[in-house]
Amino acid sequence: MTANPNTATAERLQKELAAHPRQLLIGGQWKAAQSGKTFATFNPATGQPLGQVAWADAHDVDLAVRAARRAFEDPAWSRISSMDRTKLLLRLADLIERDAQELAVLECLDNGKPAHLARLVEIEGSIKTFRYFAGWPTKFGGETLPVSPRGGLQILNYTTREPLGVCALIVPWNYPMSMAAWKIAPAVAAGCTVVLKPAEQTPLTALRLAALALEAGFPPGVINVVTGMGETGAALVEHPGVDKVAFTGSTEVGKKIVRAASGNLKKVSLELGGKSPQVVFADADIDAAVASIAAGIFFNQGQTCTAGSRLYAHRSCIDRIVEGVAAAGRKLRIGNGLDPQSEFGPLISQEQWDRVNGFVQSGQADGARLVTGGTRPEGFDDGYFFKPTVFTDAGQTMKITREEIFGPVLTALPWSDPEELVAHANDSEFGLSAGIWTQNIRNAHRMAAALKAGTVWINCFNLVDPASPFGGYKQSGWGREHGRQAMELYSEVKSVWVNVS
Ligand code: ADP
Repeated sequence: MTANPNTATAERLQKELAAHPRQLLIGGQWKAAQSGKTFATFNPATGQPLGQVAWADAHDVDLAVRAARRAFEDPAWSRISSMDRTKLLLRLADLIERDAQELAVLECLDNGKPAHLARLVEIEGSIKTFRYFAGWPTKFGGETLPVSPRGGLQILNYTTREPLGVCALIVPWNYPMSMAAWKIAPAVAAGCTVVLKPAEQTPLTALRLAALALEAGFPPGVINVVTGMGETGAALVEHPGVDKVAFTGSTEVGKKIVRAASGNLKKVSLELGGKSPQVVFADADIDAAVASIAAGIFFNQGQTCTAGSRLYAHRSCIDRIVEGVAAAGRKLRIGNGLDPQSEFGPLISQEQWDRVNGFVQSGQADGARLVTGGTRPEGFDDGYFFKPTVFTDAGQTMKITREEIFGPVLTALPWSDPEELVAHANDSEFGLSAGIWTQNIRNAHRMAAALKAGTVWINCFNLVDPASPFGGYKQSGWGREHGRQAMELYSEVKSVWVNVS
């Protein structure tokens, strides 16, 4: 048997983490929090602490924002050529690629997800994100516009794009590295400087990413990182020196951010919760649908904002689909993510375990039928493991149908009337994404148009690419990440009028 390379990497990283508390990155310097306070970050597969991390308060946040402002105004960054910004982003992508295995193991230790999947989705995804946005600085500009003012003036009107300023980037624990990359890449491509606040559960890969950015040659203060709890994020959002907040996380915290950002009317973009419907027509390729619906809810232990958590399957095929997804769930190899055989890791925390468990209790109390899962898997006494879970015979008003569980729990409902299907699928406060399964082109496009969601996948699910806009309708968010839209999120438009009469 060949040795598992993840084990040696994990041992080395753990030893190093235990010996050296992680620090804040402010103005290119690694610093302890001014208060000297730290907090522990845990391995969700064991429940054991991995190491200590600096706990930034409002004072540290202030230092980071000031450092970001200085860097924003410093000609080393404000006058950098667009091609040089491209080079820095490409260099950072190369460094992530160099350290991909180590980053994947670090993500696995801190978040619990299988290391090979962290590598495939998060690390490779982050490399792609930096390479994609590396292309924008040399292509993102304004336009000349054919204005026709009164008085016969001859006018040249053109627009320019200017970086928005100092951006607070606040990210969650479910895809820690990807979420940091999705925000840092367009922000710095647009010429902004940033203060990143990783989630308290998963600060490690973001800190590592920032270290790679320094190595790549980003000037000091362009990328700063403050670690801490929600209060650290709140101090950033309230800070008058911040021009924009980009947030990914819960809808509840998103609303707090909107309120807190109103002091100096910061620009705000939000990627929030979801309760995405998977809509299956009777003519769908059932085997393909089953495999993708299972992956759509169980991948990352269901801790994905776009998780396809509501299944609306035609009455004629719902039993087959529910059985198929349940069987796929039972087959998943649950285990410590360092094991290359593991396909399904633990939830992030005890708090999250209790929350998911609470939803399972409520589904049962409301009369939905538990087909599989609903408990801790046998033999996993440590850590926060929870079995892939499927409910069927659910009702439209049940909590498990309406609320975001953020765990591996699918709620299935049958449909027979297409009008009612659309009404039910759209009957949600969220509107992040939706899946459609049919071989009929008319059904596919009619549904794609009818569903209120920022992303619609037809005969596929959870495909994401930095070229394609990503974000939500309704309470799933404000704005779109990825693509040109992300560059727009981090820039201002200036309209210039020149009298050339
Ligand atoms: P989740 O529910 O996925 O844990 P949260 O929305 O609670 O997500 O947290 C996402 C990020 O927002 C984390 O980095 C967290 O520390 C931060 N956060 C939590 N509360 C606040 C707040 N009031 N203001 C700013 N950031 C916050």
